[in-house]
Formats: sequence, structure tokens, C-alpha cells
Amino acid sequence: MWGGRTGALLRVWGLWPAGVRGRRPLGCNAASLAGNNSPQCWNCGGPGVPKRGDGFFCPQCRALQPPDLTRDYFSLMDCNRAFAVDTAKLQNRYQQLQRLVHPDFFSQRSQTEKDFSEKHATLVNDAYKTLLAPLSRGLYLLKLHGVEIAEGTDYAMDQQFLMEIMEINEKLAEAQSEAAMKEIESIVRAKQKELSDNVSKAFEQGSLVDVDLRSHV
Ligand SMILES: [Zn+2]
Repeated sequence: MWGGRTGALLRVWGLWPAGVRGRRPLGCNAASLAGNNSPQCWNCGGPGVPKRGDGFFCPQCRALQPPDLTRDYFSLMDCNRAFAVDTAKLQNRYQQLQRLVHPDFFSQRSQTEKDFSEKHATLVNDAYKTLLAPLSRGLYLLKLHGVEIAEGTDYAMDQQFLMEIMEINEKLAEAQSEAAMKEIESIVRAKQKELSDNVSKAFEQGSLVDVDLRSHV
């Protein structure tokens, strides 16, 4: 039930011309990449860091611990596991995490910690990017639900909807004034909100089959 229609729906996000993506700053809160199953510190052998929370470092020797690869992006980024994500909060969390694990802060530390910081930073970047863009966030959420959408899968898309997107793109290309641009921007924003609400609703209901993209158009 989660498959086909979901893919089509989410792919729509990739076609929207609006600048909703791309102007996000970095950021994040201190996080918990702490080891899940082996709470012992690799460095001092101490009891190590708590499973959850923001314990990246051993409370005894302060050594950076390896990332917890079993932790999903929503948990890492301190977001509810849902399609609707508070992007401001996501950015803050990203900044916070970067301040903790960025490799620049580990240049004077052991090679092991340098390696761990690289891994943390990569993971945090991937998590942030994935959750920031609605399309990748939706696909990731589906994946967590056990639905994989093959790369390059082409779902039939609502023709009328495609036309609408193309029209907006044309208008954008032809827009001569700031006012005209603003008007298009507001149309696109309204559409995006509508789409976002529909996708959120569909995820909450556990199925995208009945979602009608056009019901509020
Ligand atoms: Zn330690």
C-alpha cells in the first residue's frame, strides 16, 4: 500500500521550482551517537556513555566514542519520526552536532578520535540532508517502514498535475518583475503546503493509496 502512489507523490517534490530547499544553515544539538550495545569506552574501558541522549564522549576520559550506526536519522536529529519535520529545529540540531563532532575540533587528538569524528560528521551530514528535503525525507521514512523504492522507478504521475508544474515553471521563466515573482512564489508555497499536508496525512494513515493530490486544488 505504501509503494507506488507514495513514490509518485514524493517525486512531485523534486519537480517544484520553489526555493524551499537550499537556504538552510547548518546546525544541531549535541547528540547521542553513543554505542548501543557496548557501553564500554574504547579508550579507558569505563562504563562509557548512555545509550541515548547526547553522550558522544566518555564521561570519564572524555574520549570521543564511535557513532551508533543502528540509530536512525530521526532519532539522531532529534525529530519525531514523521513526514512533518520542524526544519528550524533540524537546523539547530545539526549545528549543535557539528559543534560537537566536527573534525576540526579533533586535530590535536588521537587518530582514533579523528577517525570517529570523520564518521560522526559524515553521518550527521547525511542525516541532515536526508531529513531536510521533503523527497528524500519521505523516501527515507518509507524505507524505515520497510518499503524500498528502486532507483529510477518511474511512477505514473498525474498528467494534469505535471501540466500545472510546467505552467508554473514557464511563468517563472517569463516573470519580468519582482511582483510577478512574488506572486508565483506564493502560489508555489501554497501548493507545497498542501502537498506536504497531504503526504503527512497519508503517512499518519499508513497508506498513500487514497490520497488525492487534487482534492484541494
Ligand atoms: Zn573513557
